[in-house]
Amino acid sequence: MFDIDIAKNLQNVQQRITAAAARCGRNPDEIRLVTVSKTIPADKIQQAIDAGATILGENYIQETRKKIEIIRRNISWHFIGHLQSNKAKYAVDLFNLIHSVDSTHVAEQLNKEAGKKNKVMPILIQVNISGEDTKHGINPQVTIKLIEVIAPLGNLRIKGLMTMPPWSPDPEESRPYFIALRKLKDELTSQRPENVELQELSMGMSADFEVAIEEGATLVRVGTAIFGPRK
Ligand SMILES: *Cc1c(COP(=O)(O)O)cnc(C)c1O
Repeated sequence: MFDIDIAKNLQNVQQRITAAAARCGRNPDEIRLVTVSKTIPADKIQQAIDAGATILGENYIQETRKKIEIIRRNISWHFIGHLQSNKAKYAVDLFNLIHSVDSTHVAEQLNKEAGKKNKVMPILIQVNISGEDTKHGINPQVTIKLIEVIAPLGNLRIKGLMTMPPWSPDPEESRPYFIALRKLKDELTSQRPENVELQELSMGMSADFEVAIEEGATLVRVGTAIFGPRK
């Protein structure tokens, strides 16, 4: 049987992150790997943790609740999927960072639930930089408006932007979208919205994380290159 060596894959991804950072003169410590563990069973995730994974990325609330029960480790959980506002309560409980806020409604629910727990919830704004109809995320032109609505909410803290370019096997196809997200971040930063410090750029997946790092990614979300293809 064909066996996937998760520890080896993880080390390989980490080395590729370090090498990509070196190529463009960045400090590799600026880049954090989010090990995307959606649909992956807990025993496999455990192997990744034992090999050094410190951040897990999950897309589904129910699935994460079950895994946290089993894994119970000092690990950071990031929500990277599409968030429905009726799940805001669980998202605030389970996650250390939410990458995918793209509407005032979801933000208001998160703020309310975080308030009940006396918590300040760090979030990223998901931007639909390619403008594809099928993609979640806010339109880049109105991102500043969303940020201005969220910034005064006392139990949320905007930390940066996230995007997902159209899928392509050629990483160079993703580069213009990564550049566009970085430019949007610079533009938004120059408008100095109060209470907002856009530090994070969450971009890059298995097929294109090195290009994303070259264009400024601080969080790369990698699943397949570590765990193999999902069922
Ligand atoms: C599944 C997923 C990933 C990981 O994709 P891979 O191609 O398996 O690395 C990254 N980001 C998001 C938002 C995802 O849903």
